[in-house]
Amino acid sequence: MKTLSLTLLAALCCIAAYAQDSSDKITLVIHGGAGTITRASMTPEREKAYREGLDLALQKGYEVLKNGGTSVQAVEAAIHVMEDSPLFNAGKGAVFTNEGKNELDAAIMEGKTLKAGSVAGVTTIKNPISAAIAVMDKSVHVMMAGKGAEQFAKEQGLEIVDPSYFHTDVRYKALERAKEQEKTELDHHGKEGKKADGGNDEKKIRTAPKSGHRSVDDLIFTEGKKFGTVGCVALDRYGNLAAGTSTGGMTNKRYGRIGDAPIIGAGTYANNATCAVSATGHGEYFIRSVVAHDISALMEYKGMSVADAANEVVMKKLVERGGEGGVIAVDRNGNIAMPFNSAGMYRGYIKADGKREILIYRD
Ligand code: ASP
Repeated sequence: MKTLSLTLLAALCCIAAYAQDSSDKITLVIHGGAGTITRASMTPEREKAYREGLDLALQKGYEVLKNGGTSVQAVEAAIHVMEDSPLFNAGKGAVFTNEGKNELDAAIMEGKTLKAGSVAGVTTIKNPISAAIAVMDKSVHVMMAGKGAEQFAKEQGLEIVDPSYFHTDVRYKALERAKEQEKTELDHHGKEGKKADGGNDEKKIRTAPKSGHRSVDDLIFTEGKKFGTVGCVALDRYGNLAAGTSTGGMTNKRYGRIGDAPIIGAGTYANNATCAVSATGHGEYFIRSVVAHDISALMEYKGMSVADAANEVVMKKLVERGGEGGVIAVDRNGNIAMPFNSAGMYRGYIKADGKREILIYRD
């Protein structure tokens, strides 16, 4: 009798496990940054390189999901590809700070447990997304910054590199251009400022009206208005969601500035009850609007679909507040959303049957 009940129990467990298998729903979505990405500013070679990079990231993440890996493992695999590629503003190819350094931020969140991990302002960790995962899985903390995060990553056996590994000439030139532009604007406003308020240049610049010249903050943070952050959201066969984001932040950032990417709820969020979200754009706006969590909250409290919730936040709230950028999101049924309010966003998705699409521009 006892043996019979045990056999019955085992059979029921098997049925339950089978019923939970969502292998037909596995989905992976990636972004490689949003911003002023137009057909006119693109060469065929450049477009091809981006498409290949995005395709490889989709492929690597998909392989993990297809082989029974978790959504966190798939997010890590996809983001590694983009962190290792100099094309994206994450890992190798990250943008430069005002001091000419590369300071990286990354975060991960798991929808099933609501566990999360992030690192901020790190300069020696080759793949910051893996450090964020280590923070989530191997520590009692959620967020680590700077030297401490680097020491932790080293202790966890992650690959540590010399800061020069992250250098690319393209990004360094972008910093030089940003500084040059900043200087020009400062000179310009300086003359105006003397006329208007007796030389209080600093105040004059910071309160420059939107309709006039761009503010210093705009110059510091949005050189070229291109945000090359990378991100990935995934749904695995166990029905679990995960979101990850990795970035070098914004060109010419200073004073240890941290963006939205490593801030749970701002640039990165996942909850099995709602969706997984990764953002890219002008981080200051995304932090203040708590973008990723707001999308989840609209689904949770208002019963919105992932598409409607993401649209509401990116195309309405952020636009009204002046925040440029976009997000990728997936819900637990594999429905996806990829809205952006800038000219373009490197993005793509792959579904259970391997069907994939890579998009760059608005049209
Ligand atoms: N959101 C990032 C930040 O503000 C920038 C980006 O998306 O490229 O740090």
